[in-house]
Amino acid sequence: MIHVMTLASLIGAVLAVGLGAYHWRRRAQNELSGPLALAMFCGAWWALMQAVVVWGRWDPARVGAAYAILPGLAVLVACTVVYALVLTGRHRRVTRRLMVFLSIHPAVIVLAIAADPWLRLVYPTVGENADGRFAIEFGPLFWFHSAYSYGLLLASAVLIALSLLRSVRGHRAIFAIALVALLLPLLGNTVLLLASGSGRLDPGPLLFLITAGLWSWVARYRARLDVVPVSTRDVLAALSDGVVVVDATGVIIDANPRGHDLLARLRAKGANTGTVLGRSWEAVVDDRYLRLLAGVDQRLLVLDDSTVFDVRLERMHSSEGRSRGAVVVARDVTELERLREELAELAVRDTLTGLFNRRHLGPSLEAAVAAAEASGSSLSVVMLDVDRFKQVNDAHGHAVGDAVLEQVARLLGAGVRDQDVVARSGGEEFVLVLPGASGAQAADRAEALRARCSAHEFETDAGPLHVTVSLGVAEYRHGITADDLLIQADRSLYEAKAAGRDRVRIAV
Ligand code: GH3
Ligand code: MG
Ligand code: MG
Repeated sequence: MIHVMTLASLIGAVLAVGLGAYHWRRRAQNELSGPLALAMFCGAWWALMQAVVVWGRWDPARVGAAYAILPGLAVLVACTVVYALVLTGRHRRVTRRLMVFLSIHPAVIVLAIAADPWLRLVYPTVGENADGRFAIEFGPLFWFHSAYSYGLLLASAVLIALSLLRSVRGHRAIFAIALVALLLPLLGNTVLLLASGSGRLDPGPLLFLITAGLWSWVARYRARLDVVPVSTRDVLAALSDGVVVVDATGVIIDANPRGHDLLARLRAKGANTGTVLGRSWEAVVDDRYLRLLAGVDQRLLVLDDSTVFDVRLERMHSSEGRSRGAVVVARDVTELERLREELAELAVRDTLTGLFNRRHLGPSLEAAVAAAEASGSSLSVVMLDVDRFKQVNDAHGHAVGDAVLEQVARLLGAGVRDQDVVARSGGEEFVLVLPGASGAQAADRAEALRARCSAHEFETDAGPLHVTVSLGVAEYRHGITADDLLIQADRSLYEAKAAGRDRVRIAV
């Protein structure tokens, strides 16, 4: 009658071959499948040979099987190493060097077996012993093979264990199961070796089949998780934005490292410096900032050290629409804001003179008109044009003309009050908007400017030049528009030119 363990081994071997064939077909899609398939074929071989050794009826076959087990085991160990390397991400696939290294052990085993009839290094005696029972004695090479195999298997176990320790939650089960699966036959084999001798029950092959099944599951499961499962916490920690999560009652329940930095900076002076988690957002954040953030979903906050934060509030709701609190996301936009201000400033400045340009003049004049209209206070405009400027250009070149314009701009800029607007409205034409100035006061300032220009010695590459300017003044009167005011000033300017230049005319 066939022994029950023999039957179990045979069934196990068939299952292993089936599973191995399945993985062999999948080896192109899943890099774990190749080593796994080979390991299963070796496992099946091991189970079969073990069955022959233990329950065989014909001794030469049992001796042959005892030898045949060893190369299969050596390859199985090599497959385990590859499996562990691939699983832990240390190798994508088997390199030539690794292949050569891993082939040494099976090759040595095969050679030793071939030489064993003479050298007896693997099994010094095999066959019937003194009391007529089949027995195998283990030689030095057998022990060497065992020790080497253990070394490689333990190294594989360490690799998987290290990955287990380093892995994030979503991957932990995979490594844990792969590790348990590897340790199972290792421990089983230890038991076998300690209770050494043949004819005993060897749990090795059957245990390995369980291993193979578990590894199979790991291979399938891992294939679905090709994307590394990174925990939300890791993602949040990697963000350069500060993230603070507040629950529906306003209690801070989570914050990433930048979020903690932010809270430390938004804290009221002298506030409790302990942990912010579990405390109310309103108790932690300074009142000044709370007021600024109240009722808005987005706001730029300028902190005391001039750092600018773009703070956004994303409200969270349950599927039934109930509030689940909010996520506060803050981004340091200091540099961005500085650039934006720089660009905004550039957009309203004239590049040659640094004065305001036409783009700025229009709106600021309109604002001044609206303010004068509303308050009833005075407002005047002065328009200035360089006399015979074309001649300067023609005689000395454009660069000299530019130098003159820059110096006219400087003379204009000197002595302006905060509320005044000085703009270059075109080529060699400038406009002064003087809120609060009556026509007479503006005419006085225009006259002072004229005198200063005509007395000025313009430093240029063509030597000192004398240039005069003409000015037209217009005073705001109730009901007129900004455009009207400019037209009147322009008309006065034209009159000044017509009257011989280097003079001021005021609209009446
Ligand atoms: P008028 O006394 O009647 O104002 O005589 P003008 O020569 O100043 O009059 P016109 O308006 O005909 O000439 C203005 C000249 O200003 C023409 C143009 O070549 C020159 N101009 C305009 N913009 C610039 C500039 O940015 N740089 C220089 N160098 N010249 C400019
Ligand atoms: Mg001119
Ligand atoms: Mg002109």
